Amino acid sequence: MEMKKQPFAIPTVCKMQNRIDPTPDYQRPPAWSRKQKQLLMDTILRNYDIPKFYWRKVNRPDGVQYEVVDGQQRLRAIWEFEADGYPLPKDTDPIDGHKVAGLKHSQLPIEIMQKFDEYSLDVIIIMDAIEDEQENEVRDMFLRLQNGTTLKAQEKRNAMIGTMRDFVRQTAGHPFFASCHFANSRYAFDHIAAQTIMTEINGGPANVRDADLNRMYRENADFDPAGKVAKKVRRVFDFLKAAFPEKTPELVRYNVISLYAIASQLIENYVWQGLHTPLAEWFIAFEQERASNELLADIDEGMGDVALIEYKRLTSQSTDTEESIRGRVEFLEKRFFEAYPTIEQTDPKRGFSHEQRLAIYRRDGGQCRLAVKCDGVKVGWDNWHADHIIAHSKGGKTTVANGQLACVDCNLSKGAAS
Ligand SMILES: [Zn+2]
Repeated sequence: MEMKKQPFAIPTVCKMQNRIDPTPDYQRPPAWSRKQKQLLMDTILRNYDIPKFYWRKVNRPDGVQYEVVDGQQRLRAIWEFEADGYPLPKDTDPIDGHKVAGLKHSQLPIEIMQKFDEYSLDVIIIMDAIEDEQENEVRDMFLRLQNGTTLKAQEKRNAMIGTMRDFVRQTAGHPFFASCHFANSRYAFDHIAAQTIMTEINGGPANVRDADLNRMYRENADFDPAGKVAKKVRRVFDFLKAAFPEKTPELVRYNVISLYAIASQLIENYVWQGLHTPLAEWFIAFEQERASNELLADIDEGMGDVALIEYKRLTSQSTDTEESIRGRVEFLEKRFFEAYPTIEQTDPKRGFSHEQRLAIYRRDGGQCRLAVKCDGVKVGWDNWHADHIIAHSKGGKTTVANGQLACVDCNLSKGAAS
């Protein structure tokens, strides 16, 4: 991969708009709020440095095009400001003694407009090379820019000695990975296999950054490939392969670990037989809804579904931290259990599970549905009971469908009455 640095003045970048593709398919950064855009303009007008842009040069039949590998939100913010799409904030301090608060681009004093026009963007141009190989390298580079994973990290782990290394390698060869929409460049399959094994060892989402994975390899150098964890990992991947038998565009890198965590949970605690297809169909529909929501949010920041925008944030920053993975998994589980409310626990004596409670709370809009003492009061997440609509003692199942949100008062009085 060949790269060269090139400065571009803002007017040039604006004139080049029809030759720049800000959203090649590996790009999924979060939509920017107006505040973020305004902050960037303020930075530029005060002549402070901003991070480099990365563009990939592509030769198309109709001429040279650039795909934005990193910096698409900044680029859009610049274009939009230049076209008078939004003003500077009303509380902006003067720049070089000129009042600029609340002004749009075309209203700026000439001296300030000149600063904008003379500001130079540092662009790293990635030169076109052999298509496929470069595609993977550009994707990798993008991932690295996003979560700081070094390219060599998995390669180094593959050189470590021990049965954990062997088990990760074996897992990376599971047929499920053939259904994924990414290549095994730089040992991507090994990397994700290691992350899922770490999740299984931890009993749920864990930090799976390079340092965490290195530690797992070291501490499990005598890992038993016929033991309980290994068997479970194989069962989960068998489940996922049955769910996604064919190559599936929605199976991008960061999705595999969330799906793994959900399938692992289903196998552990629920009657999961027959849930392969529902999980896959639901997931694909969800991803489509999310993609169209992103388009809406791109057009107008007020139009996107707030919960989906938050989910998007969790898929675009520090995607290998426990917080991000847990957030994504809970978000998906709550929607999945809401979509399939009759999924039963293997051991119903346990009461409603965390993910069932999440789905019930969301479905009932946080309001008491029992409403015998109250008239449907809104309760906080920490302050409610999941109530069996048909009592457990009368054969009522512990499912989302047979569960409802009850405030503490109503639930206690129901208990007293029966
Ligand atoms: Zn109530």
